[in-house]
Amino acid sequence: MASKRSQKADRIRHVMATEGDSVERNALGFNDGRYESVARLEDYDAYKDRARAIKEDAIERLPELIEAVRETVEANGGTVYVANDAADANRYVRELARERAAETVVKSKSMTTEEIDLNEHLEAEGCAVWETDLGEFVLQVADEAPSHLVAPAIHQSREEIATLFNERFEPEEPLETAQELTEFAREYLGERIEEADMGVTGANFVTADTGTIALVTSEGNARKTVAVPDTHVAVAGVEKIIPTFEDLQPFVELIARSGTGQDITSYVSLFSPPVSTPPVDFDDDEPIADDPNDREFHLVLLDNGRMAMRDDDQLRETLYCIRCSACANSCANFQSVGGHVFGGETYSGGIATGWEAGVHGQESADEFNDLCTGCSRCVNQCPVKIDIPWINTVVRNRRNRGADEGQLDFLVEGLTPDEEPAGLDLQKRFFGNFATLAKLGSATAPVSNWMANTPPSRLLMERVLGIDRRRELPTFERETFVEWFRNRDVPRPVDAEYHAVVYPDLYTNHVRTDRGKATVRTLEALGVAVEVPEVASSGRAPLSQGMIATAEGHAHEVSADLEPYLEAGYDVVVIEPSDLAMFRGEYERLLGGSRYESLADRSYEVFEYVYGLLENGTDPTPLRGGDAARGVGSDIAYHSHCQQRTLELEAYTTAVLDQLGYDVVTSDVECCGMAGSFGYKIEYYELSMDVGDRLGEQFETSDTADRTVVASGTSCLEQLDALLSRQPQHPISLVAPNGSD
Ligand code: SF4
Repeated sequence: MASKRSQKADRIRHVMATEGDSVERNALGFNDGRYESVARLEDYDAYKDRARAIKEDAIERLPELIEAVRETVEANGGTVYVANDAADANRYVRELARERAAETVVKSKSMTTEEIDLNEHLEAEGCAVWETDLGEFVLQVADEAPSHLVAPAIHQSREEIATLFNERFEPEEPLETAQELTEFAREYLGERIEEADMGVTGANFVTADTGTIALVTSEGNARKTVAVPDTHVAVAGVEKIIPTFEDLQPFVELIARSGTGQDITSYVSLFSPPVSTPPVDFDDDEPIADDPNDREFHLVLLDNGRMAMRDDDQLRETLYCIRCSACANSCANFQSVGGHVFGGETYSGGIATGWEAGVHGQESADEFNDLCTGCSRCVNQCPVKIDIPWINTVVRNRRNRGADEGQLDFLVEGLTPDEEPAGLDLQKRFFGNFATLAKLGSATAPVSNWMANTPPSRLLMERVLGIDRRRELPTFERETFVEWFRNRDVPRPVDAEYHAVVYPDLYTNHVRTDRGKATVRTLEALGVAVEVPEVASSGRAPLSQGMIATAEGHAHEVSADLEPYLEAGYDVVVIEPSDLAMFRGEYERLLGGSRYESLADRSYEVFEYVYGLLENGTDPTPLRGGDAARGVGSDIAYHSHCQQRTLELEAYTTAVLDQLGYDVVTSDVECCGMAGSFGYKIEYYELSMDVGDRLGEQFETSDTADRTVVASGTSCLEQLDALLSRQPQHPISLVAPNGSD
């Protein structure tokens, strides 16, 4: 296992070194474009809702819509073939090529044909196959696989492409600029299109009522692929069908904005084939044939696991995906490694887990599934609102449950009160049971801290559990936050208007008790009657390891522990954003019903709660403002937690800090890279630091280098601690009145 981990670390290091810069530059460019473009789109959220509703309806009615497409395409003069799997689809297209004695086949970009390896099958039939999309052409020449759903050669720089073309094609003048490279490719591929006997495209959408194929491209190559040869074959997954032509509208608004950050791509081509323009014969003196009816059209609708995904409650949502790549571009890990690490046989990025598990099988998803840290930054970026982290969690859970019994299971038997099967990876089991470890760590501190940090312990932890020695371990407090609160001799406010439980999350309770104490002091100074009861840990730790049954157990315990307080009218104030994200997000799946709703409705992030108090007239004077802050200046560099931003809560912290006189600048990276246990794992440590560097750099500029650094999440604090020479703190520690503890 240790060598498997180090092999993975080697592979990640290699790809970061060779492809990382290009991937990062291009993905961040798409990302910035998306943020700007969607901000310009009025009713962006309404378009997303509409797109989601159309997809839900289409997948629900899929068998009926497949038959509707068959009828309309056949009425238009084309043929529809529903292929059960890759072999079936390839056999059909090969036979078409054979019957038409096709020597040259041109293709526009299509992930579905990548999925079935159509090129190899056509080449085996003796066809010369040419990719006419520039990125795909680059990869064809380089003999590489795509690393991105939309921009397949995102990992290549202009210089690398120039070297590749100059070596392969030996042009009279060496190619150098982007314009020269593009012009060369256009001319070269234009000749291939002229001689083509068959054109193959994918389809972004297929409308059932008109048999229209929608193709969204940047280069116009798909039009030529359709219009020049007399035989057009479109290969599309069955999930590409939408009910009506009108339904295209929200997708046309969303797809380019979400993918490349353009308001609309250069070409949105809508064909209801066979197209009515005559085919073109460049060998003829009169190249335009008289008879448009010479054209042939075949629509190959591919199942290849999709109908089974439709029947799978957990993977079904994957079929709503329009493959825009926003989830990949917004993923911090993807920005560092791209799809050659964060991807499977065909698909890449966060949603690739669902696609790979569905069309290629669980094993194809296993290798890269852990690269989704569940940070959730992709969720709001997805134009069809797919819960991508949940799909990753489900696939991880299935992998855990498919594992064989491990040789080292006896080491943890009895120590790990989880609901998971034998054979679960020890590293996952260790991190998933962090609650047990934290209790033990506090009960035996400071010995536990000393013991854990001795060189032999670190070596053992690295070898057996894959915990990287370069990462500092958390230091457990002997007195937990709950115990501190219980042991305090402080009178409670009388006749308080607000009553709140401060949720003692795992880290606040055992490691960062200071932020819990600061929260209590802050709320009490604002007149809130506070309680800090013993409450189970949220289940975030096991959930992040794909241990869904264990997380579900935690959710029920938390609900039972907090129920009396909720019934008595208490609010729940949460310090750790990832736990609040559980209460408002995953608990809907883990708890459901009224128990979920009452907890979600009454839970608040700490600054969200303080903001609400101040907005409702509470006097902020007891809190420490920028001018009065001791030991810190009033200039703040603030990094909010990824899940906090997904929940759109960042603004509450900055608003409160503003009101108290602090001058705040915020980071704009997607994630700190630590992501709970992820940054501890030896196979991911360097990736975690690479992601973190983007954050570190933002806090070392001339405007930020002297600012006090604050961060909301435990992971962010640990990562910033490792990245910067100055120590970060939770923002509640800034504003809390001084205490005697
Ligand atoms: S999951 Fe959503 S964001 Fe990701 S590629 Fe599919 S549609 Fe785009």
